[in-house]
Amino acid sequence: MYDLESFIKELEAKNPSQPEFIESVREVLSSVIDVVNENPVYLKNKILERITEPDRVFSFKVEWENDDKEICVNKGYRVQFNNALGPYKGGLRFHSSVTLGTLKFLGFEQIFKNSLTGLPMGGGKGGSDFSARGKSDSEILRFCRSFMTELQKYIGPETDVPAGDIGVGAREIGYLYGQYKRLRSENTGVLTGKPLEFGGSLIRPEATGYGSMYFAYNMLKERGDSMEGKRIALSGFGNVAWGAAVKASEMGAKVVTLSGPDGYIIDEEGVNTQEKWAYMLYLRNTNNDVIEPYAKRFNCTFVKNRKPWEVPVDMAFPCAIQNELDLKDAKELIANGVKYVVETSNMGLTREAFNAFIEERIPTAPGKAANAGGVAVSGLEMSQNAMHLKWSKEEVDSKLKAIMEGIHHSCLEEGREDDGYVNYQKGANIAGFKKVADAMCLLGY
Ligand code: GLU
Repeated sequence: MYDLESFIKELEAKNPSQPEFIESVREVLSSVIDVVNENPVYLKNKILERITEPDRVFSFKVEWENDDKEICVNKGYRVQFNNALGPYKGGLRFHSSVTLGTLKFLGFEQIFKNSLTGLPMGGGKGGSDFSARGKSDSEILRFCRSFMTELQKYIGPETDVPAGDIGVGAREIGYLYGQYKRLRSENTGVLTGKPLEFGGSLIRPEATGYGSMYFAYNMLKERGDSMEGKRIALSGFGNVAWGAAVKASEMGAKVVTLSGPDGYIIDEEGVNTQEKWAYMLYLRNTNNDVIEPYAKRFNCTFVKNRKPWEVPVDMAFPCAIQNELDLKDAKELIANGVKYVVETSNMGLTREAFNAFIEERIPTAPGKAANAGGVAVSGLEMSQNAMHLKWSKEEVDSKLKAIMEGIHHSCLEEGREDDGYVNYQKGANIAGFKKVADAMCLLGY
């Protein structure tokens, strides 16, 4: 029998200085510990010890030359966490905050997220502490080449299939794939999120944001509510926030905030035109990581060095980075009458913030359920690559919708509490965990 606190204490001793990883394990285990304690097969198979240790971790040096002809050195990693359900699958994050602990947390989350999609994908994650901020396009190209020169030793279309994440979009995936092909002479689905010209899937760039809105649609439908006229706060302005803004507008909701590390903008008219969406993409490609120019361009308010959670809204969608919404922010949102929270970044809410929403019985979706659309369409890209064909936009979008509806259904099945409240965190954790745990038992140790 397991006791949560003693298990976490031992895990901390084995994995010192990895607070995000410990936090992500605590979140999953707090939902599943009773399920494990009540299941003699899980106990006998030592599932908790085995599922919290990555299968393997690669750490490598990335050397590249900047435009001043200086040699630069970054750290590169790939964490292959668990392949019980299929090839390791998960993105690459290029951001100055990346450490091994960050990637272990993301890899751990990815196991259950991928399981929830119902597609045959295991969990992994990789990346580097390299940041595109202030870099030229040719510096990014040289960095990507050097990164892939090492990474290609560990990946393959049936082994481990990386994709994008923060700081890695179609441009970086293109450069990485170019180097993979140069070194291996292979045209395979070894990366997803590829540009359309060479094996990319339609709807993949939009998938995380669209998927999150489809998940939200199901949450509201469950309560006889609709997206029409809802006021939404989004954080971030990258690929995920972009897809979310587009789909929210199509659904009749109004996105009033976007944010960057420099602060946030309030656009009372809504981030709801082609021009505004295109500008978000343009901002991302300038490599400056600031949102302030949006306010100047569209004549709206910029609030420096603050987070968008102080703006009164019906729905909040953190779309930027882990721990971006804390207890203070949660209290402010609650005081302002927020009705739904949809964590679209990975672990965007701190534990205290998540608990505050649950205590108030505000429907709150965890990232591993709400943002699974990205990796789901990556899974569909793998299928298309394996079959050497291409599905239409409509085909991919309808599959994405069905997958998000399926994930919502799994959350309802495992997460409904006695008072009728759906605890989406508990539901997603239990549903995602059970499938992986069962597979691990069937595979033997
Ligand atoms: N980085 C995304 C995630 O956090 C997508 C991963 C993928 O497509 O493999 O799920």
